[in-house]
Amino acid sequence: MSIAGIKGMNDILPEDVATWQFVETTARSVFGAFGFNEIRVPVVEKTELFCRSIGETTDIVEKEMYTFTDRSDNSLTLRPEGTAPVMRSLIQHKLINQNPVQKLYYSGPMFRYERPQKGRYRQFHQIGAEVVGIDSPLIDAQILVMLDHFFKQVGISDVALQINSLGCPQCRPGYRDALIAFLDQRLASLCSDCQRRFRQNPLRALDCKVPGCKEATEEAPIVLDHLCAGCDDHFSAVRTHLQNLEVSFSINPRMVRGLDYYTKTTFEMITNSLGSQNAVAAGGRYDGLIQKLGGPDLPGIGFAMGVERLVLLLSELKLTNAQIDLFIAALGTEAQQHGFKLLSFLQRSGVRAEMDYTDKSLKSQMRRADKLGARYSLIIGEDELTKRSAPLRNMSGGEQIDVDIDNFEGVLSTVAPAETL
Ligand code: ATP
Ligand code: MG
Repeated sequence: MSIAGIKGMNDILPEDVATWQFVETTARSVFGAFGFNEIRVPVVEKTELFCRSIGETTDIVEKEMYTFTDRSDNSLTLRPEGTAPVMRSLIQHKLINQNPVQKLYYSGPMFRYERPQKGRYRQFHQIGAEVVGIDSPLIDAQILVMLDHFFKQVGISDVALQINSLGCPQCRPGYRDALIAFLDQRLASLCSDCQRRFRQNPLRALDCKVPGCKEATEEAPIVLDHLCAGCDDHFSAVRTHLQNLEVSFSINPRMVRGLDYYTKTTFEMITNSLGSQNAVAAGGRYDGLIQKLGGPDLPGIGFAMGVERLVLLLSELKLTNAQIDLFIAALGTEAQQHGFKLLSFLQRSGVRAEMDYTDKSLKSQMRRADKLGARYSLIIGEDELTKRSAPLRNMSGGEQIDVDIDNFEGVLSTVAPAETL
């Protein structure tokens, strides 16, 4: 019996890779223009890192983490998100001493034990960005301008930016108390998780996806009514900057996010095209997180985009892999050897060249050239070997010229696409 992959962990097949690369390349170039440098961190961390940062009473930590003990009895976890590992690395390597403002981005797989469905998987991919060291609402605005610009660059227009503010350690406790009092009156309508944790972590009820909880919390007090003057000013400055830069947004006062570390500005990019998996990107400020993880008291803000969801939104684009430039059809051992030499020369020169490595008939080799969508074909048989000249055919136009089979440079200059030369 053959061995299948793991449920919720997908292969990204060659036919889909062009879209993935397009998303990744666009992110690289947009984030680069906004001054971000890439950081790469491991996919496995000490479990404690996620418990301390994301929060013990979040869905992620309570039931979604892939946690295991290694052979030395250390509790390790496959990263469910990227912010905590990046902050861990930044603290560990004292990056902030080198540059008091850190703008970093990352990209890679994340792991959460969720119920797999369209747009929700157990291994999924995020591209995320973080800025550490700046309090100013200008940075909140810059992050959102960059996100907005990224979506425009990849050509996704069916998204809307929603923002909110979650306050700070000064004003959040007052809001928490008001929310606890509200939930206490409606406990019976909440799901068992929300009932259990409503005193410890009442905000979770607002992020719960169970319909009963959504309904019961419709009239819940909103955090915006409880912001202290500092948070209120910060949020209003963010909105002003966004308006000045013509980034459209709406305020969603119910958005609390699923991770406990958020403070002040939070945001989501929402689509209508992916059912309940409607968040394509999400993030916010996390001003206390770095200190909580044992680092200096520095502010931070960031976001992560779900690459699978981006690719689903782009699926109508139908990007294809680059075409083969030349297919060499060789007949007989000697022709095959000469063809292989030419093939290797072209490949080393950056031209996408391919041949048949067996002894198939000319007809079957040409079928393969067609299937690969080759721009040119070159047929080398016994006659061509003797004449040292072979027909090079333009597969789309059909026109054919004879080329010197020993003049590799000549073949290269004819078949190479303009950008390789
Ligand atoms: P959701 O509300 O859909 O569960 P989330 O709030 O848990 O999302 P975050 O932790 O903020 O998501 O992660 C940022 C982004 O990563 C999400 O907006 C989404 O695009 C993507 N994402 C999160 N979980 C998954 C998953 N299991 N499969 C695919 N993409 C995911
Ligand atoms: Mg989630």
